[in-house]
Amino acid sequence: MTELDKMIDLAREHGFTHAAALDPDTMILMPEVRDMCLANTCGQYDKNWSCPPGCGTLEECRQKVSGYHSGILVQTVGDLEDSMDFETMICLEKQHKENFAELTNVLSGLYPKLLPLGAGTCTLCKVCTYPDAPCRFPERSISSMEAYGILVTQICKDNGMKYYYGPNTLAYTSCYLLG
Ligand code: SF4
Repeated sequence: MTELDKMIDLAREHGFTHAAALDPDTMILMPEVRDMCLANTCGQYDKNWSCPPGCGTLEECRQKVSGYHSGILVQTVGDLEDSMDFETMICLEKQHKENFAELTNVLSGLYPKLLPLGAGTCTLCKVCTYPDAPCRFPERSISSMEAYGILVTQICKDNGMKYYYGPNTLAYTSCYLLG
């Protein structure tokens, strides 16, 4: 079993429903994805150090993801009663974020240059210090894949992972660059 296979197993042991190898060469940072942040449908644009523009320019993000040779994608997939089942959606997101934080702790002990990219904005503090003061926990704050301009559907497809699991399902996807 390769080291990467072991990390994929570790991800499943930490509660993710799916995990797969991530080829860092498939990480394409797109201005179009950042433009979606600018539309501010999530309300976090210019509100949090982990989101644009606080997380850096696309070029700065590109530099941060460069030089990695391996990674893993992790996913939490769940069934919804219907498209209005917000309770399960919130539950799944919470579960995904908790598992991601726990696995981040474990992997950061194994990979000193670990770069985790999560789902959604950083919620470590009740109120983010942005933009008045520096981030309180720069070592623990995690940006989303979208904040880095990554199109989740594309990266899943290019790494053989499904993104859509059918009607009334929801999938949260995140990744780690191992280094
Ligand atoms: S750790 Fe706190 S201050 Fe830093 S990005 Fe997250 S919420 Fe903002």
